[in-house]
Amino acid sequence: MTEYSGKSVFAGIAIGRLKIVRHDDSAAPVEQGTAEQEKEKFYAARDKAVAELNDLYDKALGSVGESEAEIFSMHAMMAQDGDLEDAVLAKIDAGESAARAVDEAGFDLSQMFIRMDDEYMKARAVDVIDVAKRLCGYILGKKEEEIVLDEPSILASSDFTPSDVVKLDKSKVLGFVTTFGSDNSHTAILARTLALPSVVNIRDSIDLPFDGKTCIVDGFTGKVLVDPDPKTLAAYEEKKRKTDEERLRRQELIGQKSVTEDGVEMRIYCNIGNSEDVKAALANGGEGVGLFRSEFLYLESSDYPSEQKQYEEYSRAAKLLDGKLLVIRTMDIGADKQAPYFHLPKEENPALGLRSVRICFERPQIMYTQLRAIYRASADGNVAAMVPMIIGVNEVRWVKEVAAKVREDLGKENIPFNAEMQIGIMIETPAAALIADELAEEADFFSIGSNDLTQYTLAVDRQNQALEKIADPHHKAILRLIRYAADCAHAKGKWIGVCGELARDLGLTEFFAACRIDELSVSPPYVLPLREKIRSLNAEKADADAFTK
Ligand code: PEP
Ligand code: MG
Repeated sequence: MTEYSGKSVFAGIAIGRLKIVRHDDSAAPVEQGTAEQEKEKFYAARDKAVAELNDLYDKALGSVGESEAEIFSMHAMMAQDGDLEDAVLAKIDAGESAARAVDEAGFDLSQMFIRMDDEYMKARAVDVIDVAKRLCGYILGKKEEEIVLDEPSILASSDFTPSDVVKLDKSKVLGFVTTFGSDNSHTAILARTLALPSVVNIRDSIDLPFDGKTCIVDGFTGKVLVDPDPKTLAAYEEKKRKTDEERLRRQELIGQKSVTEDGVEMRIYCNIGNSEDVKAALANGGEGVGLFRSEFLYLESSDYPSEQKQYEEYSRAAKLLDGKLLVIRTMDIGADKQAPYFHLPKEENPALGLRSVRICFERPQIMYTQLRAIYRASADGNVAAMVPMIIGVNEVRWVKEVAAKVREDLGKENIPFNAEMQIGIMIETPAAALIADELAEEADFFSIGSNDLTQYTLAVDRQNQALEKIADPHHKAILRLIRYAADCAHAKGKWIGVCGELARDLGLTEFFAACRIDELSVSPPYVLPLREKIRSLNAEKADADAFTK
């Protein structure tokens, strides 16, 4: 038995044959022509790649949906990127072959992504490599690789590119194991969407002779066991049977209320990054969306997304939710989420710097445009706006002034919107929590951003893995701030939710029930375990002091 360990991206147990996927990089040598001929080869390959990517987009749309499919339009854009083209042409002029020039230019560009702070942007390096590989393949006349699965298998590879993933026969995939890759890689996203137990970043490659051997993926602990001994296999088979049973049993909770034994209701909403995610939220029994991280729209664009583009995305989510609440957070760009076209100044401490709403104070047009899009979407469903990174009452008043101007302008233009749309704020700085009494006068609701609240309260950089041990999420300081904010919200008749990672922490559900937190917003797979937990609790008997004293 050989054991590997990495980062789990979906909790569950998979047991099956291991299929090791090796990418074949060999190709018949092609003769190098003149610089002009090499440039022609590059342009011909680029045309072919764009046509093929458009084809893949159509295929993916039918099989895995729009959000997975969009990756291929993004790849088509990357293939036609002006900087990539310039770099390739310069390398050809310097004497390189077209294939080598593309390979090197692709590598250079991928390194630029890898150096970015934001995890999502970092993960885009694999997209650049995928595009460069595709272009090289066409230049060298290589055949497209296909992963053929004869039986349901656990797939292992260095990493899977989006093109690999879309072409897979998903009915035969039991789970993924990758040597590299992050939480935001396409493999990870697909694993979560399809609920496949998977482990990424095992930092080791699984030996080829293991191909076809029995493999266990433990998505609870991040362990991967190849060729397990009979005792281990039997234990895991039993664990898998139990977790499958549990999952089935929990399905019965879809459509049920998230209410404690003594009748206290706690709504369970979902965190999403785009409108397509609404489907996963609903399929998992989510009662609404408590956090739509709108900045992903900004991160995926090469310029500020227009009001119309934003409106279409928000409206789609609102319509899919069909009357359930959609809380759209205004963009949280800055710190670890950098979009190059914002041209933000280089900062010593970006997490304490120009971030989210603070950017809007300097560039109010961003807030105005986004609130217009959100207000317009409010005519198409049950929509609320939420503002992150608040530290003061004046900030909330400023946002409300912009909102009033938006309402006035939309009214003049006869564009429909909900004039009563709620405007809430995130409590994710200790400052906001400590003046929650005053903020509750201005905001329609609160949502605790526990990820940043933890970072700022404990002075622990959330990006720094070395500090994970110190960042105790149950630290009394954090729980006291949450409790105080909840008391202040309720004293003013406002509702309060939690949308950071703490919301899904079953060890704190009792505390949240004791504080009468009205809503918990979590990733879709966590809705049902949380509902099960809430239904087993008695809110009256829950003791907040036990957590904060
Ligand atoms: C948070 O800080 O808890 C939060 C939900 O926002 P984000 O993780 O996007 O910063
Ligand atoms: Mg935050």
